[in-house]
Amino acid sequence: MTTTAATELARAARGTEASGRTPEELRELVSIWAAELEAAPASAIIEWAAGTFGDRFAVASSMGDAVVADLASKAVPGIDLLFLDTGYHFIETIGTRDAVAATMPVTLINITPRQTVAEQDAEYGKDLFNRDTDLCCKLRKVDPLNAALGNYDAWATGLRRAETRNRVIAPVLDWDAKRQKVKVSPIARWSDDDIERYIAENGILVNPLAYDGYPSIGCEPCTRRVAPGEDPRSGRWAGSNKTECGIHT
Ligand code: SF4
Repeated sequence: MTTTAATELARAARGTEASGRTPEELRELVSIWAAELEAAPASAIIEWAAGTFGDRFAVASSMGDAVVADLASKAVPGIDLLFLDTGYHFIETIGTRDAVAATMPVTLINITPRQTVAEQDAEYGKDLFNRDTDLCCKLRKVDPLNAALGNYDAWATGLRRAETRNRVIAPVLDWDAKRQKVKVSPIARWSDDDIERYIAENGILVNPLAYDGYPSIGCEPCTRRVAPGEDPRSGRWAGSNKTECGIHT
């Protein structure tokens, strides 16, 4: 599908309302468009979402790189870019976020948890991540994202099937039943080579940790370097059975 074709399809899908759709209407859009968008180029997928949902479409980034932010901001200059500021990020990740906000046509939405780290320590004890990662992720990632997505009908992520076995079936267009939103993964089909090529050809900002043994970057206390050839996500919550923070499950 060409970008122009996707835009025309989006106009047809949009009808007269670009916002305020009911969950049933949103789910119906997924059932209508999922198969067609599955084979579309990433830029066309983003254009479809932007044309269909208007300003009720946002893109989320963990600031490992700015690939999806670049795709989205080219389609929609000024698009809302969601970043979950857990209070536990590497300084390099915060620097990447700030560089993206300063140099790209995006509106950074810095999402913070209900409590600061100090307030969480006071209520739950110091370093909750050492005792209950699921609760810590819920308080600092999942709950804040769920609250922020109340302002949108659809959100885009940088999920890729090549990242880990758990993500093999990540569809390009999905019904996010937990949040009652449309979930768009425009680069779901991209390989590692596709990512590297896009970064090189478009001069994309990359978190410096990605070149320092961190192919998957989360919060500092829960992320370690991985050796060449290891599963790229094996450095996340290493030594435990946890593989996802709860945002994509
Ligand atoms: S990744 Fe670790 S520090 Fe970050 S929210 Fe989850 S448990 Fe807490």
